[in-house]
Amino acid sequence: MVPDSITSVTSHMDGDWEDQTMPDGASGLNRRDFLHRAAGAALGASTLTGDAARAEQAAKVPPEKLVWRNKHPDMVYRRLGRTNFMCSRLAAGWRGNNRLKQMLLERGVNYFDTSRVYAGGNNEKEVGELARKFRDRIFLSSKASGLAGYPGRAFEPGEGAKAARMYHKLLDTSLRVLKVDHLDCYYLHGVDKPFVLETEELHAAYEKAHKAGKVKHNGWTTHRNAQEVLAKALELEEQGRHPFDLIMVACNPNSWPGIKDLIVKLQQHDIGLICMKATGQVRHGSGPHVGEMLELADTLQLNDRERSYAYMLHIAKFDVLISEMQNVKHVEGNLKLPGMRLAAADRRRLEAMVLAEQRGTCHHCGRCAAACPEVIEVDDVLRYHSYYHNYGHHQDACEHFRALGYDLVRACSECGRCKEACPAGIDLPAVIVEAARQMA
Ligand code: SF4
Ligand code: SF4
Repeated sequence: MVPDSITSVTSHMDGDWEDQTMPDGASGLNRRDFLHRAAGAALGASTLTGDAARAEQAAKVPPEKLVWRNKHPDMVYRRLGRTNFMCSRLAAGWRGNNRLKQMLLERGVNYFDTSRVYAGGNNEKEVGELARKFRDRIFLSSKASGLAGYPGRAFEPGEGAKAARMYHKLLDTSLRVLKVDHLDCYYLHGVDKPFVLETEELHAAYEKAHKAGKVKHNGWTTHRNAQEVLAKALELEEQGRHPFDLIMVACNPNSWPGIKDLIVKLQQHDIGLICMKATGQVRHGSGPHVGEMLELADTLQLNDRERSYAYMLHIAKFDVLISEMQNVKHVEGNLKLPGMRLAAADRRRLEAMVLAEQRGTCHHCGRCAAACPEVIEVDDVLRYHSYYHNYGHHQDACEHFRALGYDLVRACSECGRCKEACPAGIDLPAVIVEAARQMA
């Protein structure tokens, strides 16, 4: 087992241009202590905003309790909730080869994320090669995929024992493929139903794996029905029944207002919040309000992706952002974002620009799939369509799409109910037709 490296802390870089967030910190409670204390009055910060709560929490934490890895003077770090890990505000997602990831490592990024199902099932193997080499410099997470909601859910209410067996099997497989002896976090992948978070057998499965030294922290991710599952998490947290330290949420500037209050409250409960899929799921520059966007002068010298990322880091205030990095240009562009300092006027300008260009992106609400009489996972189709068109990942997009197993030409009756249900007004039947033509 690689121990956490703990050093004394004399300088921190996390701060926002207006509120100058204090160094993040924590009380250093263990899991049981924390759960006992979690009932409602988490760290006494229930009336404060997310950043103020973070600052208040920081003031209560002895510096020696914080866990530092791969510290670099040009990177900004924030305490990742009650894990006490000082995380680079930019994390390495699954995209990008190991050469790019090593560049990130050399510039102070210290969080690497993967899953069994990424890159056609090969991403854990690839990330494992780098992770083993630099294991003591990174926080490494993977996901129990195909169990809790993505891709698909393997159990229903009352089938917790089955879910627990599968959790252990998936975790052991991840460790074997990654060739590491432990993970810093193992997420339940793609939780879209509240009951999953209440499944006590899964809580016990995590505790068992944690005691065996296989995983340090418990987490879950969501990219569908986020409002409902986040609300359930908060309810459970207030009852001391939410044994998860980290939540990874698909969120973009357009969907942020719908979950903002929940995210802030969960931060007040000292949960680490990680943002993924921050650029939305419409083609850049093709949204209905592109004209409005173009009227705003770009004084910030950021491209459209970087503007979305800057928004999620500095306005939405997630603790950590998983960003898209396909080449050196992306890496360099993204690395400048955590340390940005903006005047209030620039901040307002950024907000106006991002909201204009991102209007009409997916809210990750799942209403389209729920409305489909043919039980098509319409939002999944949209996601892979965006991989194809927004990110240019043609091969991955097609592989993911084919794995859904649909013959959309036959399955979709073009009834239009998905479009009617969509609060973002996305022309989903058109997406379905295009996906069937390009990605099948
Ligand atoms: S248009 Fe197609 S995908 Fe949309 S609800 Fe109807 S059958 Fe489902
Ligand atoms: S209904 Fe619209 S906003 Fe909601 S998940 Fe589907 S595409 Fe996204």
